[in-house]
Amino acid sequence: MKDSNCIFCKISGGEIPSKTIYEDNEFRVILDISPATRGHALIIPKEHYANLYEMPEEAAGRVMMLAKRMAGYLTERLHCEGLNIVQNNGEVAGQTVFHFHMHLIPRYTGDGNEDKLCWHHLELSAEELEEIFNKLKQ
Ligand code: AMP
Ligand code: ZN
Repeated sequence: MKDSNCIFCKISGGEIPSKTIYEDNEFRVILDISPATRGHALIIPKEHYANLYEMPEEAAGRVMMLAKRMAGYLTERLHCEGLNIVQNNGEVAGQTVFHFHMHLIPRYTGDGNEDKLCWHHLELSAEELEEIFNKLKQ
């Protein structure tokens, strides 16, 4: 399914040109227009899913397999020293384009993102941690 108002539907379908570094019948991998580092790429499914919640499990599994392959490819070609995978779901989580995509962000020593691609640590009491654990344990 495509959404006619969605920029990533248009990019993944080839309607809007992009710097495509990989394509198959299910996915397109492009360079991010506003990269965090050199080689910052996005895996975009051709099918429109707003986010991970909407995506079938099988498709999500194939995204991860492609991420694994692309991580090797980016590292081999760009000689990055590491790589972050980021995948935002919902505005509160920083999502700005509401068509599922996975960020592949090559990392280099001194790339200026040392303090960006991580989070502040929450100070939770033992009781609070226990309360969360009780909601989640199966
Ligand atoms: P997110 O904040 O996870 O929704 O990420 C959206 C990403 O899409 C950002 O990193 C943008 O720079 C990138 N982006 C938006 N429009 C384009 C475009 N036309 N071509 C390539 N990347 C884009
Ligand atoms: Zn879309």
